[in-house]
Amino acid sequence: MSRYQAPKGTYDILPPESAWWRDARSVFDDLAEQFGYGFVITPMFEDTDVFARSVGADSEIVQKQMYTFTDKGGRSITLRPEATASVVRAVIQAGGVQGRFKGAYWGEMFRYERPQKGRNRQFIQAGVEYLGSESPEADVEVIEFGYRMLERLAVPRVEVRINSIGDPEDREVYREALGAFLREHYDELSEDSRRRVESNPMRVLDSKFDRDILEDAPVPLDYLGEEAARHFQAVRDGLSALGIPFVIHDKLVRGLDYYTRTVWEYIPTGYEAAQTSVGGGGRYDGLFELLGGKPTPAVGLAMGVDRILLASSVPDPGHALDVFVVVADESLRSEARILTSELRAGGLRIDMTDTQRSVKAQFKEADRSNARAAVVIGAEWTGNEVTIKDLDSGVQDVIAIKEIEGWLRVR
Ligand code: ATP
Ligand code: MG
Repeated sequence: MSRYQAPKGTYDILPPESAWWRDARSVFDDLAEQFGYGFVITPMFEDTDVFARSVGADSEIVQKQMYTFTDKGGRSITLRPEATASVVRAVIQAGGVQGRFKGAYWGEMFRYERPQKGRNRQFIQAGVEYLGSESPEADVEVIEFGYRMLERLAVPRVEVRINSIGDPEDREVYREALGAFLREHYDELSEDSRRRVESNPMRVLDSKFDRDILEDAPVPLDYLGEEAARHFQAVRDGLSALGIPFVIHDKLVRGLDYYTRTVWEYIPTGYEAAQTSVGGGGRYDGLFELLGGKPTPAVGLAMGVDRILLASSVPDPGHALDVFVVVADESLRSEARILTSELRAGGLRIDMTDTQRSVKAQFKEADRSNARAAVVIGAEWTGNEVTIKDLDSGVQDVIAIKEIEGWLRVR
């Protein structure tokens, strides 16, 4: 065992496994561009208040999971457990939303959790925020975004679970009804849930321990006001029109306090730890005001990249290099370096050895580095030619240097 280990709940990702992460990042970036979301970067830590106010004092995150410390200037600082609060804080700081604002982020989040498969203390979330729109079309677009991301990252059999928790006024009435139900069953509830019966009964619906008792609990859908009900119907119609399958889960409330109306989760049903979400989102029309901004309707999602990897069909890493340049005549080493440089400039992925080695050793290295082809620089060089060999099939040709790219393209 090495002397130092990555801290509990964290991990290192090295090649070749890291290739999946680079690809996933680029799938996400492409999708964000295609959907018209600009790129947002915010700090990995904020004033503790930013999260305490927005995520909610009774939430599991704020109660148990925040990495909070006092910095040398005496400020209470928290490593971000999620990014929506940061993005909203940043947009308010920059003057608020004129019209619509669509932003995407990718980054590390920190939660003090009991580590297990798919549950880490540092993990990556990729998300989008659609700010300044109260239209159900915004909800539909954001839900579609997550669905397409899972599609492109080859996560099979994804179930989209949606619900509406209504507007604040609807929730007040609902909360009364739920509170009454929970008080009736108080003795059967887990300790965490009991604590929340008075402070925040909707949090209890999110409990992993009280599912049986909650079976007959009243649900928010039965308490929706007219507008929230119409909004939810429009979201369902919009998803159907796009052919995105969904199921209504009337007890889905999600773990953050700032949601209103639509909430949803993506559950990969074929995955061994099924029932765990690989992402989720919701509408949060009240968050801007909570953080001191002007009232601004908004909807967003966060995808858990660590869990997407666990749920995706085993990715084939493919070739890591297009060409490994083999120097068969040591007097041509400098020419080989120049050719390598030129081919890289042309966009190919190329590597070669760092010092004199036998041809056999260089071919071994080419295999080990998972190259698609070897380009041998030797006797043919004087005629401006090289030997090129497909390392999978073994087929080889002697071709002109300027034909290398074309040869790779057609094969
Ligand atoms: P869970 O109920 O599994 O704890 P959550 O409700 O806390 O999830 P969110 O806050 O909604 O999760 O975060 C969105 C996504 O981020 C989740 O769907 C999940 O994929 C991912 N995620 C959340 N916490 C972790 C973690 N500790 N490690 C890895 N991924 C996580
Ligand atoms: Mg959680």
